[in-house]
Amino acid sequence: MNVLVINCGSSSLKYQLIDSVSENVLAKGLCERITIDGSRLTHTPAGRDKVVIEKPMPDHTAAVKLVLEELTDPENGVIQSLEEIGAVGHRIVHGGEKFAASTVITDEVVQAIEECNDLAPLHNPANLIGINACKECMPGVPMVAVFDTAFHQTMPKKAYLYGLPYEYYEKYKVRRYGFHGTSHSYVSKRAAQILNLDIKNSKMIVCHLGNGASVCAVLNGESVDTSMGLTPLEGLIMGTRSGDIDPAIMEFISKKEQLSLEEMMTVLNKKSGVAGLSKVSSDFRDLDAAAAQGNELAADALQVYAYRVAKYIGSYVAAMNGVDVICFTAGVGENNSAVRKMVCEYLGYLGIAIDDEKNALRGEEVTISTEDSRVRVMVIPTNEELAIARETVALVP
Ligand code: ADP
Repeated sequence: MNVLVINCGSSSLKYQLIDSVSENVLAKGLCERITIDGSRLTHTPAGRDKVVIEKPMPDHTAAVKLVLEELTDPENGVIQSLEEIGAVGHRIVHGGEKFAASTVITDEVVQAIEECNDLAPLHNPANLIGINACKECMPGVPMVAVFDTAFHQTMPKKAYLYGLPYEYYEKYKVRRYGFHGTSHSYVSKRAAQILNLDIKNSKMIVCHLGNGASVCAVLNGESVDTSMGLTPLEGLIMGTRSGDIDPAIMEFISKKEQLSLEEMMTVLNKKSGVAGLSKVSSDFRDLDAAAAQGNELAADALQVYAYRVAKYIGSYVAAMNGVDVICFTAGVGENNSAVRKMVCEYLGYLGIAIDDEKNALRGEEVTISTEDSRVRVMVIPTNEELAIARETVALVP
């Protein structure tokens, strides 16, 4: 069966068409500037050059229509007709406490996702628009919702409660949820597979280091703690997000700079992280280049970043009373050997030693720790789209 995987944002839509038997990507692409002037679709059929189509996309339904046209196009297409799409898998950011697993999309499920909109006002409404647009263009094709939060629903209360008045949890469900669950789940399972390890009897820490970044403690195959919270702002220092700060800083800065709460949130989400610290960029390639040229702020930002990752790893070793495997994944985790090295240098007390030659490899599933390292350290490229396609196939009759 071919599965169309959809990741819908407020003005963008990413897609992949995956053959679930071979698990090959048949085509992938991105619609940008949906609802905005200058919208365009970049479509890449596997093994062929990408095509860029500039056409107005006044709404997401127009975007989905255009994607389906390209997928079946005689020249750029990869399938003959829409009948060759057996199911659609949607990435949904927030499932609140309602969803501990992926689920077939029904009217009730759509309503339940809507009820989580409050918790992810930037993402869930956009995800729902994607669901509706696909329903309109492909009525009758089964659809599955795969949640970023679902994998973390196994977290125990001691890990998900904040030290706030309990009534905020009771009234508004203010608690830690965690994100990147599809990635943490995929990577931890893949590590167990590669190492021939019984996942039901294992302690793993997954570091998903992309633009957004989070660490997850995976005990016996289940998430027991993760660094993101109610929203993706908590935890690690990220590309542009601050991660953990003293909450009193918000009042302090907002008074000094006369910023509203909304403006303060923009500072924490969009202007902080390594971008804010370095004054250079949120992109680690730019930071590396600047640091190599002697830019001290860029070098400091990298240090602050790696130190925070190492501290989270340390706290999750405590949470699980040990660790067997540490995995790095996502853009920075997969590609930036210097960051991995910096993080692992803090972990000598765990008996961790890194093989520099293996750490220099790229784009592969590889163990980067030495033979005699007491904990295995691995790089495992994440594949959230494939994970979504697998979840979808498992649920569609
Ligand atoms: P997102 O959270 O947007 O999916 P990614 O996982 O793509 O983010 O991660 C983006 C980060 O990964 C950027 O900071 C970028 O510097 C880094 N990155 C991506 N590709 C490479 C590469 N080939 N070499 C070094 N860094 C990379």
